[in-house]
Amino acid sequence: MPEKVKDNPMHRLPDWRITLPLAQACLRCGARTRSGAACKASAMLDGRCRMHGGKSTGPKTAEGLERIRRARTRHGCYSEEYRRMMKAVRALSADASRLIDET
Ligand SMILES: [Zn+2]
Repeated sequence: MPEKVKDNPMHRLPDWRITLPLAQACLRCGARTRSGAACKASAMLDGRCRMHGGKSTGPKTAEGLERIRRARTRHGCYSEEYRRMMKAVRALSADASRLIDET
């Protein structure tokens, strides 16, 4: 065998008949894809592939939670603060009506 062929790193690798089954035996993702079939990509340590890393765990800090709350709020008419204020307004209005009726 010529010296140049011996130095080729490809010849230092094990036979593909050994390495290919090893590569194919790795853990698979298994996430449900848009087609409905299981994802066949190789999985990371968390069991999912690079594309299906798992669900978001959500905001962790108080600042992040507040940012999400602000982003999700449309008008605030159903917020706890607004409901409390409207309850107080209704109570004041009822008191005013009662006062008007008494006089
Ligand atoms: Zn996947």
